Amino acid sequence: MKKNDILTGTVIDYTHEGNGVVKIEGYPIFIPKTVKDETVTFKLIKQNKGFGIGKVMSIETESPDRVVPPCIYYQQCGGCNIQHLRYSAQLTMKENQVKNLVHKMTKLNIPVRDIIGMDNPWRYRNKSQLPVQYQDGIVTGFYRPRSHDIVPIEECLIQKESHDELMNTIRQLLTKYNVSIYDERKHRGNLRHIVLRSGTKVNETMVVFVTKSKQLPELEQIADELMTRFPDVTSIRQNINSEKTNVILGRQSKTIRGNDFIHDQLDTLTFEISDMSFYQVNHEQTEKLYRKALRYAELEEKQNVIDAYCGIGTIGLFMATHAERVYGVEIVEKAIKDAKRNAALNHLSNTHFEAGKAEDVILKWREDGIRPDVVMVDPPRKGCDSVFVETLLELEPNRIVYVSCNPSTLMRDIQLLEEKYHIDEITPVDMFPQTTHVEAVCKMTLKG
Ligand code: SAH
Repeated sequence: MKKNDILTGTVIDYTHEGNGVVKIEGYPIFIPKTVKDETVTFKLIKQNKGFGIGKVMSIETESPDRVVPPCIYYQQCGGCNIQHLRYSAQLTMKENQVKNLVHKMTKLNIPVRDIIGMDNPWRYRNKSQLPVQYQDGIVTGFYRPRSHDIVPIEECLIQKESHDELMNTIRQLLTKYNVSIYDERKHRGNLRHIVLRSGTKVNETMVVFVTKSKQLPELEQIADELMTRFPDVTSIRQNINSEKTNVILGRQSKTIRGNDFIHDQLDTLTFEISDMSFYQVNHEQTEKLYRKALRYAELEEKQNVIDAYCGIGTIGLFMATHAERVYGVEIVEKAIKDAKRNAALNHLSNTHFEAGKAEDVILKWREDGIRPDVVMVDPPRKGCDSVFVETLLELEPNRIVYVSCNPSTLMRDIQLLEEKYHIDEITPVDMFPQTTHVEAVCKMTLKG
């Protein structure tokens, strides 16, 4: 077997990126956009030590789970990677991924419940982060896979429908006012990204213009045109990011027109969301996830809750009506400001929010004598800090509810917590249909 060989094989499994796996003489080859049980003819385009990469030439036997991707940009755009899979098969793939990781990484017998999917797995994203480039003219869209070249896009089927028109109008205005566009390679030019963020239950949209320089002379006129044309746009902000970086937002931002934040509702609670704070992108699934987390917490009267990695306080405030007191910690100061305002907005005075690293603040709280009955954790992809996990093991809350956006770090942390906790069950939740991201919530109870 060598590079550029044309081979035929049957897809037996998926990688974490959703690529089909074919084995030829025991050597695994990963082939994008293929479906389990399909027999495919492919070209071996890369031969690494432990695995190869293939490119499909033709499909010999097609799986009934293959569907025609509805998006016209699907073959070029790096945003979605499993649109060619029937939604029920996407859900099975994600559920199996969690089951396989439990088996491989923990050797524990943890029940993995049915994945919670969407009724209609499209148009769910309430936030669009659109890079801007100058190609033949000004373009907005998404990057090609493993590249920073933009595929110019006028319609994205996983973002809110209203964002399409807004994005296309903004692009026209950028052309009309001849706005200077940032060139990443030369680190020159000005406008880098457009970020759109909308409420789902509340019709409010924020537009953020991310610029390299403090000044974008045309911005006020553009903002006025947008405010006139789109009644739902209630906040226009400028964020300044002068660094040579892949991180989208810089540290400084200001309001150009309208409010500093937008509102949304989750169940009966109202939230204020500012541009720099984390807020889940899929509203329908977030409500399902939080309800599950609340059920897993099995809160009883007079119990104290810690909400670690709390963002703008969403999960903690969900718990606050059922708890004695909720303590939230989060590293982004602006998110903590949002959390405090959100507590007041919803008249939940039994809450305390503090900015800092979860691993530091929980130590301080321990010294202050705070004894949580339930700890909620919802860390970023890298999982919990080891000091944080050690402190949890010393604090011994009755229950831990762990929300994870990366099942492999969840499994790593489960292996540590298992010393004192019975891992009751895991429920995967599909927060990001058409992509391979998997979210899961896990219930753990202190061993008796
Ligand atoms: N629970 C929230 C946010 C979850 S996202 C929600 O459901 O909306 C994870 C959050 O962890 C982000 O807001 C991020 O800013 C925060 N974070 C990252 N590292 C952290 C750390 N070391 N300590 C505290 N918070 C951290």
